[in-house]
Amino acid sequence: MNLKTTCFERALFFSWYCAVGDCTYCYMSTQPKFNKEKLARRTTESLLAEVILCKNLGWELGFVSGGQKAYKKVEFLELLSKIKQVYGKKVWINVGALSKAELIQNQPYIKGVVASIETINYELHKKVCPSKPIKPFEDMLVEAQRLGLEKGMTLIVGLGETIDDFELLKNFIKKYSITKIHIYGLNPQKGTMFENSEPPSAEYQAEWIRKTRQAFPDIDIQCGIWVDRVGYVSTLLRAGANSISKFPAIKYFGSKQAGEVERQARLAGRKFKGTLTKLPEVDWDKEVDKLDLNDGLKEKIEQKLRAYLKKMKSH
Ligand code: SF4
Repeated sequence: MNLKTTCFERALFFSWYCAVGDCTYCYMSTQPKFNKEKLARRTTESLLAEVILCKNLGWELGFVSGGQKAYKKVEFLELLSKIKQVYGKKVWINVGALSKAELIQNQPYIKGVVASIETINYELHKKVCPSKPIKPFEDMLVEAQRLGLEKGMTLIVGLGETIDDFELLKNFIKKYSITKIHIYGLNPQKGTMFENSEPPSAEYQAEWIRKTRQAFPDIDIQCGIWVDRVGYVSTLLRAGANSISKFPAIKYFGSKQAGEVERQARLAGRKFKGTLTKLPEVDWDKEVDKLDLNDGLKEKIEQKLRAYLKKMKSH
């Protein structure tokens, strides 16, 4: 595992619609049912424009994700096939607990599946994710193993677990041969039961990372930070994280917070691959033209890309 470098990983979200909608820490749980159903999917062109940005700025695609059941199966497979084509390689997906048949359908486009476990404390899990049980994810991980797919998981620290729960995590990672884990810290959302909670400290999030790294020297650990936690980066990297995510990299591109992420990486003795601060010289139209997509879609991607670049140059 190379801990001399680090990079930013972008989660590509295709929608905010979610058929689960009641995880108690999630913004979706604060929305009336009508809004949950109304919340639109993003357009294909905006997603693909974002993938082009990732490729050219040196950002890895952490996973493709979105609210559960936002897409019909066939449409989702079409989207994944386009993302794979633009990205140039298979992607991770984090779209809920998939059945064996669904995994097989997705397999041509995906490298692995992420189980959004969120908390490994089973009692706490029942409270914070009442409609997103762990068991279907465990079944998915077993099937993914049989199919030769990689297996990842998410963990949010600060939901009410303690570091003593690490043994549960260790057993889970071992049991399901997890090769990648995303370790986030709670982001208290207005209107949820965590509204007045303190976000976990850098040291607490780092402790989970450190223990995971010690127990699994080869596992890929991604740490999630928010824009108010860029000062956590060096602590989390020193604890053994490979990469950084959850920073709003397009909105804050070139900002002082983005500069701080890169500085923190250097403080931790890591070379930061890619950039959150300087747009490289790229012929963006050419990047779109070379894609094997229809001209109408390419035109829309170019427009979207121009809009993103304008936003990114505004800092
Ligand atoms: S499944 Fe995900 S998007 Fe849906 S409510 Fe739970 S955390 Fe939020």
